[in-house]
Amino acid sequence: MTKKKPKIKSKNFSLDIDALNIKRHSYLLVIMTTYSHSRISTFEQCKLKFKYHYIDKVKTEIEKSVELFLGDLVHRTLEKLYKDLKFQKLNSKEEILSFFNDLWKKEWTDDIVIVREGLTQENYCKMGEKYISDYYEHYKPFNETKIIGLETQDLMKLSDGNKYHIRIDRLEVDGTTYYVTDYKTNNTMKDQNEADSDKQLAMYSIWVKNNFSDAKKVVLKWHMLAFDKEVTSERTEAQLQQLQNDIVAKIEDIESCKDFPPKKSALCGWCEFKPICPEWKHQYELEKKTEQEFKDDDGVKLVDEFSKLKAEENAIQKKLEILRDRIMSFAEKEGASAVFGTEQKAKIWSKEVYKFPKTTDMNYQDFVDMIKKIGLWNEFSRLDSFKLEKSFGNNEFYEEIEEILRRFAKKEKVERIYLGKK
Ligand code: SF4
Repeated sequence: MTKKKPKIKSKNFSLDIDALNIKRHSYLLVIMTTYSHSRISTFEQCKLKFKYHYIDKVKTEIEKSVELFLGDLVHRTLEKLYKDLKFQKLNSKEEILSFFNDLWKKEWTDDIVIVREGLTQENYCKMGEKYISDYYEHYKPFNETKIIGLETQDLMKLSDGNKYHIRIDRLEVDGTTYYVTDYKTNNTMKDQNEADSDKQLAMYSIWVKNNFSDAKKVVLKWHMLAFDKEVTSERTEAQLQQLQNDIVAKIEDIESCKDFPPKKSALCGWCEFKPICPEWKHQYELEKKTEQEFKDDDGVKLVDEFSKLKAEENAIQKKLEILRDRIMSFAEKEGASAVFGTEQKAKIWSKEVYKFPKTTDMNYQDFVDMIKKIGLWNEFSRLDSFKLEKSFGNNEFYEEIEEILRRFAKKEKVERIYLGKK
């Protein structure tokens, strides 16, 4: 594990570490890991998924989603098209489609998951045929540039010593301009902004520049097969440097991460760990139950009871507010400051109070500046513990500051139940 990169430091912060008796970090045995776009993006998507996949190496019964299967076969079909061209063999469209269909028949297995309702493997197979057919018609006879790499793989060394796995679908050259093509089988069209900010494409650019000294220009291309369109992008040297720094910082985040919470998103539908993920495992178990078993499930019964009582509580809350307003009106009309019932009385308390600007008010900052100027800040300001706890929990402080704060921090378990629609 590498040393974590600190991010927040106090302004004008200066410490005598020895005087504070803070333990200096001893040397650690550094084990270098190979990173890849999918390893980093899995961490960004969901830390728990990252843990299951890369740390615990959990094997799941679900092997593949149909989208992955389709993408893999389309890639291999286009690879064959270009590989054969190297041997001066131009496959006809029928030949290349037949190659794709044969692969499909041979490799399709019933455990491949189709998440979208109402679709079958035939729908996906036809989609693949269309992608390949459109591509073929658009680019035949495929001789515009010189191809120098197909499904190229390499490990690129990063400045922190870690390695980054590069895999390029197709690499071409025309003079000193290099073209990197990445085939995409996504169902939504990617736009220019996405291409210009995509880290994986930019990493390709760094790899090309590192490996081909004559590369004056690197054009990065996404070929969006579902739309038969290309989205191209280029990067400046400054952007590439910034990206390398960002990647190294992200790797430091990954290596210092100790907490791997689940992060629910639309992508959970494609996550192979859904059956064991705490966010979904109960629902997953319920799906396997009969109607009666579902009704008898302790979890179902408890949540149904809880939500019923919560609804009653909310209704009572609303009724209480209405009653409160009516008692106030009654008291005002009668000129009374107490209204009497059978057992209890309702005492009306009312007073005019002063209010100063709140954080959300426009003049809040002017107000704070003035309070500081007139010397009242220390006496009347309060520490924002909530913000501090959040930043501390997210490891956002410099290590030295974190060590100091840790002396006062106490770990407590906070538990809440939020009801929501399924
Ligand atoms: S199902 Fe969703 S929340 Fe659970 S591990 Fe997978 S991506 Fe994360």
